[in-house]
Amino acid sequence: MSNELRCIGCGAVLQSDDPNQAGYVPKSSLNKEDVICKRCFRLKHYNEIQDVNMTSDDFLTMLNALSDRAGIIVNVIDVFDFQGSWINGLKRIVGNKKVILAANKIDLLPKLINKNRVENWIKHLAKELGMKPDEVILISAEKNQGIDALLESIEALRHGQDVYIVGTTNVGKSTLINKLIERSIGEKDVITTSHFPGTTLDLIDIPLGDGTFMYDTPGIIQAHQMTHYVTDDELKFIMPKEEIKPRNFQLNEGQTLFLGGLVRVDYISGGRRSLNCFVSNRLNIHRTKTVNAMDLWHRQIGELLAPPGDKGFDFNGLKRHTLSVREQKQDIIFSGLGFITVEEGAVIEVYAPKQVDVYLRPSIL
Ligand code: GDP
Repeated sequence: MSNELRCIGCGAVLQSDDPNQAGYVPKSSLNKEDVICKRCFRLKHYNEIQDVNMTSDDFLTMLNALSDRAGIIVNVIDVFDFQGSWINGLKRIVGNKKVILAANKIDLLPKLINKNRVENWIKHLAKELGMKPDEVILISAEKNQGIDALLESIEALRHGQDVYIVGTTNVGKSTLINKLIERSIGEKDVITTSHFPGTTLDLIDIPLGDGTFMYDTPGIIQAHQMTHYVTDDELKFIMPKEEIKPRNFQLNEGQTLFLGGLVRVDYISGGRRSLNCFVSNRLNIHRTKTVNAMDLWHRQIGELLAPPGDKGFDFNGLKRHTLSVREQKQDIIFSGLGFITVEEGAVIEVYAPKQVDVYLRPSIL
């Protein structure tokens, strides 16, 4: 009998000699109980090894292969960045599998927003994007809201089959997986990883107790989100952490709002009106006259207009978006940053880093 210590995640023999080999843990952790190796730790907490690019052939191979397997799909999306967290064509690719949309970060939306309305709004947007989910569950992985309802819905729909959890990065999939692990089994040491055949991808396998599994699939990187263009420290400012307090600005034509130094919003026409901003409470919003806006932006970037925290902002990499709010109240979305609600009849011009999606959608309010 050997008394080798093994990682409770993947079962590799633990070692602290070579960080690049299986089973590595720092020396200081070797004698602790329930140790998981660095690879499993990062896999579990940061999705690090398994994150793949949206266009990755491996990911598409995996989705295609899923259509031949029995099971249901739980697609985690970020309610705060719906389109940014959408996987195009998911329902088509996975065939007639049942799909639950788990709409995460519900805790960020102001309490005054009616939850039934949010659910219907999600169904409506999903339909526009070509999907009819079998169920929409509003959750907050971080605040432990809706997790029971999600588990009940999974049980009701899966009929003894496996469960595949999919989502783009930053939707909170790892946070959810950790909550599900806690809830459904109450122990950590039964989690393993497995390799998805025909790809370079690894899955995290959570046993469901009846011989079936819940599989955490790799998070897909969505390039069109603000979150990829700021430093980790700046991210803390722009990623909302608690219930958003809407900030309402009465604007005249010819006035401009800056969201930090990242986005400039010019109010062009439509008479005096309010722009209701839903962004992180920590993000500074600054109002100025449009004629002064460009000069101010260059002078105050990294200071009054921050984040970004330094002067190295790429002014040549900006894209201008002209948006007309025509028929009804709409939200202007800045993917990964938040949104501004505007009543009909307004014309607005937005300048944002060109990689970041800016678009209109029916208002969540
Ligand atoms: P993943 O890339 O999808 O695995 O996402 P993570 O689980 O790493 O979460 C991404 C970010 O979203 C982290 O900063 C989390 O703290 C945050 N987050 C995750 N779930 C929630 C939630 O329910 N509410 C809020 N407000 N933030 C969340």
